[in-house]
Amino acid sequence: MDVQRKLEILADAAKYDASCASSGTEKRDSRDGKGMGSTAPGMGICHSYAPDGRCISLLKVLLTNACNYDCLYCVNRTSSNVPRARFTVDEVVKLTLDFYRRNYIEGLFLSSGIIRSADYTMEQVVRVARTLRETHHFRGYIHLKTIPEADDALITEAGKYADRLSINIEVPEEASLAKLAPEKDVRAIRRTMGRLRLKLDEAQEGRKATPKGNTAPRFAPAGQSTQMIVGADLASDRTILATSANLYGAYKLKRVYYSAFSPIPDASRSLPLRAPPLVREHRLYQADWLMRFYGFDAGEIVDRAEGMLSLDIDPKLAWALRHRDRFPLDVARAGREDLLRVPGFGTKAVDRIIATRRLTSIRIADLARLHIPVGKALPFIVLSDHRPSSHLLDEARLAERFTPKMKQLGFSF
Ligand code: SF4
Repeated sequence: MDVQRKLEILADAAKYDASCASSGTEKRDSRDGKGMGSTAPGMGICHSYAPDGRCISLLKVLLTNACNYDCLYCVNRTSSNVPRARFTVDEVVKLTLDFYRRNYIEGLFLSSGIIRSADYTMEQVVRVARTLRETHHFRGYIHLKTIPEADDALITEAGKYADRLSINIEVPEEASLAKLAPEKDVRAIRRTMGRLRLKLDEAQEGRKATPKGNTAPRFAPAGQSTQMIVGADLASDRTILATSANLYGAYKLKRVYYSAFSPIPDASRSLPLRAPPLVREHRLYQADWLMRFYGFDAGEIVDRAEGMLSLDIDPKLAWALRHRDRFPLDVARAGREDLLRVPGFGTKAVDRIIATRRLTSIRIADLARLHIPVGKALPFIVLSDHRPSSHLLDEARLAERFTPKMKQLGFSF
């Protein structure tokens, strides 16, 4: 099979993995005349995302889509009737370098089905990264998928070459994983995440203790991430977010990626026939953002009774509508924590508001200048030239103002 055909098969097989993004890496450049690739800003490399938010600036492939495991949600499972292919280590290295030279990519995202054993597969994945870094002095971004059962020495070596490592938790609940991916062991997954966290902490300490000018031992400077498939089981958004909060807290993950389940050919009857609405994935990302940057707890984002995020309105607005007793908020006096809970107020806008109000009072026109969606925020705030009517927040129909109107579908003739 030629490399082009392998690429078609192995890039297609990798597309279901959402956990690739190149944020948070260390800066490297090749201005010293050695090596190839740069992640420094202003060096002509930009991050590029597909309309659905997935990163497309990395060469995203599997080493092989053959796999010993039979995870029901996966198109590469052993019982799947799909064409199989396998790259050699040298083929992935050459493709990465060729694509990099043509400026198609800024790095590599490499995962693999499990062949022979976890150690054998991980060793092959590590060899790609080692060859790129040590033989070709490649300085672009590398994200490696880690196989939980692999030997500790291989994982340490993976961290030496990769910017980011990831292990997919797959589904939020242990019982679902046992049903959908019987060969996977959630304890091994969590144990390896724990090992990664320790190595990341050690590397951080090592960097602090290393005198300026010396090179500190390196371990995945862009941290670890994971992916959860949404909609392959019956887990509610509340359960998904609680699992994410636990992962962020226990293993200091940089990101949890949410990937809406896509029905696959010849799927098991245990799986849903339809994909969940893509907007559910989007709402989970918004909720995740609220946990990481806006001070929300996982438990308060989702309505307890419903267990699911609204698909019609964003989670912060939905929270504000459930907690109207906390509004309207006086923008001139409110603390940062409270301002962050106002619908439409982003973190940067809140910092600008706090800086501005020391000098002058905030008016409606100032919000527009800060690119705050004024119509969304006004019912919840008091400004020097605005106070919402006392009935507005009590109005049963306030939520309707923000819900997108139903549209008559067009006819195709
Ligand atoms: S281990 Fe499971 S999820 Fe990973 S490639 Fe194999 S079948 Fe797919």
